[in-house]
Amino acid sequence: RAKAHQRASHSYFTLDMGVEIRERVRMMHALRAAFENERLFVVYQPQVDMRTTTPVGAEALLRWKNEEGQFVPPDQFIPIAEYSGLIVDIGEWVLRSACFELQHLHQLGYTDFKMAVNVSQAQFSHPQFLQSLERALVETKAPANCLELEITESMAMNDPEMLIKTLLHIKQFGVQISIDDFGTGFSSLSHLQRLNVDKLKIDRAFVNEINDKSGEGSIAKMIVQLSQSLNIKVIAEGVETKLQADTLMSFGCHLAQGYLYARPQTQLDLRAWLAQEPGQDLIHLPRGLP
Ligand code: C2E
Ligand code: MG
Ligand code: MG
Ligand code: MG
Repeated sequence: RAKAHQRASHSYFTLDMGVEIRERVRMMHALRAAFENERLFVVYQPQVDMRTTTPVGAEALLRWKNEEGQFVPPDQFIPIAEYSGLIVDIGEWVLRSACFELQHLHQLGYTDFKMAVNVSQAQFSHPQFLQSLERALVETKAPANCLELEITESMAMNDPEMLIKTLLHIKQFGVQISIDDFGTGFSSLSHLQRLNVDKLKIDRAFVNEINDKSGEGSIAKMIVQLSQSLNIKVIAEGVETKLQADTLMSFGCHLAQGYLYARPQTQLDLRAWLAQEPGQDLIHLPRGLP
């Protein structure tokens, strides 16, 4: 009977895979059409200093509303965009949109505001990447030193030599580098030091694990300590509760993004949210703006 069961589950598995592949191909075509017809858009999730809840920046996040008017989660369509190579063009467009918004916010007077943009392996290793980054900065006039590119640990693992070279060029523009979802990959500490990154982002999963005030022995605490000994910045993602915020601050982590502070929002909502937030670094509002 065990054998019959095995065979049954095996054929079920292959059938399922067929559906899966068809679904992926369908999604790839739909994604390309959405990109061409401008049905993709970028939302911005504020990042704050938890001590004062002062906004310090935002992360640009891609959104896709399909023909049926439903949002397709990025965790579903980003892998397809990566696999199909679509991520190169889509990613460049996200980067330009984010640079444009960064420039706009600086013009409004938020002169210390930072913008973080996710960059996939396929984009990063593309021969035109540095040129398209430079073009985005020049054409939008965005301040390079307030742009942060988020890369993942696995990218550091694949080809560290290539990565180190590319990062050196990026650094020459003044652009900052953070490691996204830190702690979920397996980058070696020696790589991490050689990459000369500016910031570690504690993955949401580790923030979610913080359930008691001490947080002793937690991965989040270890990452904060690591960032301190490497003398690089650290930010927590997915902060949802006051307890998580207080615990992270007790470790010495002061930057965060998460639903406790703000959800990802459209550029207009972000501007409105910033305008009503107390204590942000609004130096001056140029006169004559609407
Ligand atoms: P990520 O870069 O780690 O982004 C953080 C994710 O956590 C976002 O999900 C954000 O909406 C979510 N999040 C933030 N705060 C909270 C919270 O308090 N609670 C909960 N439950 N979730 C929170 P999102 O927007 O669905 O993006 C998922 C992933 O898709 C991103 O993870 C990133 O890896 C990828 N992604 C999104 N946009 C882009 C893009 O433009 N380019 C590339 N290459 N990847 C992108
Ligand atoms: Mg990210
Ligand atoms: Mg992340
Ligand atoms: Mg994440």
